[in-house]
Amino acid sequence: MKKSKNTKIPPLKKVTRKNLEKKIRRQTDELKVRSGQLREGVDREKVADRKIEEQREELLHVTRVGKLAEFVSSLAHEISQPLTAILSYAQAAQRMFSGREPQLQEILQYIINDNHRATEVIRRLRLLLKKSKPTLESLDINTLINDTATLMMTHITVKNKVLKLHLEKDLPLVQGDRIQLQQVLLNLISNSLEAMEGNDAGRELLIRTSRKDAGTVMVEVRDAGCGISEENMKKLFVHFFTNKPDGLGMGLSISRSIVEAHGGRLNVKNNSGLGATFYFTIPVNVKGMVNE
Ligand code: ADP
Repeated sequence: MKKSKNTKIPPLKKVTRKNLEKKIRRQTDELKVRSGQLREGVDREKVADRKIEEQREELLHVTRVGKLAEFVSSLAHEISQPLTAILSYAQAAQRMFSGREPQLQEILQYIINDNHRATEVIRRLRLLLKKSKPTLESLDINTLINDTATLMMTHITVKNKVLKLHLEKDLPLVQGDRIQLQQVLLNLISNSLEAMEGNDAGRELLIRTSRKDAGTVMVEVRDAGCGISEENMKKLFVHFFTNKPDGLGMGLSISRSIVEAHGGRLNVKNNSGLGATFYFTIPVNVKGMVNE
């Protein structure tokens, strides 16, 4: 068939090149848009990571402040007893030398005045540190554990450890103070990570929840760390017991008092294999079940 002049196919090379240039321009533009979106995504992730890190730092700070407050509170208690004794000795001496030894009387009065000043400082300190009662609310313990795990995730990864969560579905809501229970979880997780420090054989940290009975939920934090010697087993929950060079020995005693203030129990056992398991119970909120 004879081709007409009008329908002549343009030279293939020219069309291909033009199309190619167009296509390349279009794809370049698309790529620019996509890389912009990717960059935005990465930036957003960075901001979220930073926020999580800030929240974790804040919580650890709150925990440290809590430990310090408890420490100062015990210290204040310890100091106020000898202060009371000093006051009564000075007053007794004043009575003994009543009307005599004016210089000694003056010194005794200084002792009494300074004693009053120190007692007042301690009184104000104790007032300031007075423990607030837990603010109880209905809580989904699994959500609280997930939130806490998110806060700790970077830390866990940096330590080259692995966190596993075995959270029982449809657990009843519990009755608790969110911040305080999170403080307990953070304490147990931090201790577990420290117990696994420098131990490559044990890397796994497992948090498990289950329904213990109709009225109680159980939380277990199981590590593969150094475990606990028989001797230390008896002292763990005692104020100021620590075997860490920079430890305060307050974490577990505070955690136990928080759990007990919630009507639960916190305890520990060594695993049959590596490490130890800390476990605590929390009473179920009478109002009922998750997903009801
Ligand atoms: P601190 O962490 O400041 O020492 P804690 O009260 O939290 O205070 O812990 C007291 C001690 O209990 C620790 O010094 C450590 O010896 C021991 N301990 C706590 N958790 C664990 C654990 N998961 N494995 C082994 N020992 C632990």
